[in-house]
Amino acid sequence: MNRQKYNITEIFESIQGEGFYTGIPAIFIRFFGCDLSCQWCDSPDSKKGTKNLKPFKTYTIEALCDQLETRYRTAILTGGEPLIQAGIVELVCRLSSAYNIHIETNGTQTGVLKRLREDGHVRWITISPKFEQLPTDEAFFCADEIKWIVTQDDVSRILSKTLELYDKGLLHGNQVFVQPQWFDPKSIEICLGLIHIQPTIFRLSYQIHKILNIR
Ligand code: SF4
Repeated sequence: MNRQKYNITEIFESIQGEGFYTGIPAIFIRFFGCDLSCQWCDSPDSKKGTKNLKPFKTYTIEALCDQLETRYRTAILTGGEPLIQAGIVELVCRLSSAYNIHIETNGTQTGVLKRLREDGHVRWITISPKFEQLPTDEAFFCADEIKWIVTQDDVSRILSKTLELYDKGLLHGNQVFVQPQWFDPKSIEICLGLIHIQPTIFRLSYQIHKILNIR
């Protein structure tokens, strides 16, 4: 029996507010901890090096499965950074017997991403890359969608990195989203500018759960 424990800050039902699957009902499992430290993080207690930690709970696989009493058929593993949890591949395998598993990751854990892809238990992988540590080419190739959080400082790097990935054949279809920073009104303008420059590559993602004032 797997005695691995997983650090989780919250479990809640909502609708997916971002990206390709916007609007689907899902149960969100938010893992504690991250290997990066982004300025705009919406889970600041999980950032690397954070001192004022919110309490999190630890669950075995059995305890987590007991907790997930829901009629929703999609489970979204998010964070923090879910892929730095020890035993995450085994957890995905177990949960996939009951749920379509979606993962939201910063893409730094290449080995874990490759295992998840090879095992075939994950339905959808969203990589939201950060310039603090970009994913490897192999990691990018594992993504079903890429979601850039757009800031004025990063716009030219986002464009050039995306075109580099496109030229290398590492992007699938038309699943590269640009998402404005919620608190920055200029950010939406920049996103639309990127879409205008590369309309066959970029799509807009907007955090509709924030418009609806739900989690
Ligand atoms: S990678 Fe995601 S969870 Fe980690 S600090 Fe950045 S925004 Fe927060």
